[in-house]
Amino acid sequence: MSGRLPPRVDVAIIGGGFAGCATAWALRERGVRATILEREAELGRHASGRGAGLGRQLADDDETTALTVRGAAVLRERLGAHWTPTGGILAFDDLEQAGVYVERARRFRVPHELLVADAVRARWPMVDGLDLAAALFIPTDGVIDTRGLLHAYARETGLYVDAHVERITDGLVETARGHVDARVVVDATGAWSGPLIGFPPLDVRKRHLFVLEASPVSRTVPFLWHLGAHELYVRAAADGVLVSPCDRGATTASDQQPDTDAEVRLREHLTPASTTLASAGIVRRWACQRAFAADRRMRLGRDSTRPWLVHATALGGHGATASAAIGETVATEVLAALRDL
Ligand SMILES: Cc1cc2nc3c(=O)[nH]c(=O)nc-3n(C[C@H](O)[C@H](O)[C@H](O)COP(=O)(O)OP(=O)(O)OC[C@H]3O[C@@H](n4cnc5c(N)ncnc54)[C@H](O)[C@@H]3O)c2cc1C
Repeated sequence: MSGRLPPRVDVAIIGGGFAGCATAWALRERGVRATILEREAELGRHASGRGAGLGRQLADDDETTALTVRGAAVLRERLGAHWTPTGGILAFDDLEQAGVYVERARRFRVPHELLVADAVRARWPMVDGLDLAAALFIPTDGVIDTRGLLHAYARETGLYVDAHVERITDGLVETARGHVDARVVVDATGAWSGPLIGFPPLDVRKRHLFVLEASPVSRTVPFLWHLGAHELYVRAAADGVLVSPCDRGATTASDQQPDTDAEVRLREHLTPASTTLASAGIVRRWACQRAFAADRRMRLGRDSTRPWLVHATALGGHGATASAAIGETVATEVLAALRDL
């Protein structure tokens, strides 16, 4: 939205990624119109617009899995235009770890089937060298159209771009485009969260994604995520096969660019798993950042000392899948803050 910022609002959300946009969506569903202030000229310029779009429900811990399972259910049932029901394969080089995931799938009632190694190779022949001790097929996993989903969330919201928030004091939000007095402020600034609200910076990790030349793979083939010592994932893309070597180099919040040696590291990483992909040409490459709190838990909820502040940060590597559930959780906290103020 162009023009002057509104001088007074009930809810100002800082940041137009999945955390901010899904919160605006969930508030709208509950009858509250929020205002998003985004520094860039477009939504999802950073983590949210650069992810792999895998809708993987079984995460590494129960707390995240509760959000991804709920989030994926909302995407399938209510925002299905932005979800392709591919199913997903989780593969393991360690039987014990596979058992932990089977147990988690049972606890969260996520339908799952054990796959033999040959069945995995039949679906993904181009990664036939993977070290496979066990594999699970999750039929209700899928692939997310991340850009479309972000815009669907932000629909009918007061959205202001090019609005860099420089300071927040007691609900007074100071931006490069003027001031907004908000009853409640939601911090959804992703990897930048910290200094703006007087917290230490988050732990920011850089990850690379590549689209490699390959013979066409149907867009309905399940994605494959190998949770092994040489972690990697692959999924069909319109122009090839999307691959991530699941790297996690420490970095600081910024407009992430691919490292100069990223290709060499990709080739080394892929070689044991796939001779075909390890030598395939690169169609596109990009880098992106995942942001974590020290305890690896998403930071969702009211600030302990500032009644006007609600956190929606530290989404880590599952923020797209969990987005609707994150929005619902944060919206509930925002409504409580509005009631109390
Ligand atoms: C390589 C990679 C692959 C991924 N793949 C998947 C996947 O397959 N599935 C999945 O579920 N998740 C995936 N993720 C994780 C997911 O992308 C993130 O969890 C999610 O996008 C984080 O959203 P966010 O809103 O917290 O951050 P962001 O998208 O970074 O949004 C924060 C926004 O705040 C804005 N901002 C910051 N400071 C200010 C300020 N002072 N004033 C105004 N605006 C400000 C920024 O410009 C930005 O737009 C992946 C992440 C990476 C890096």
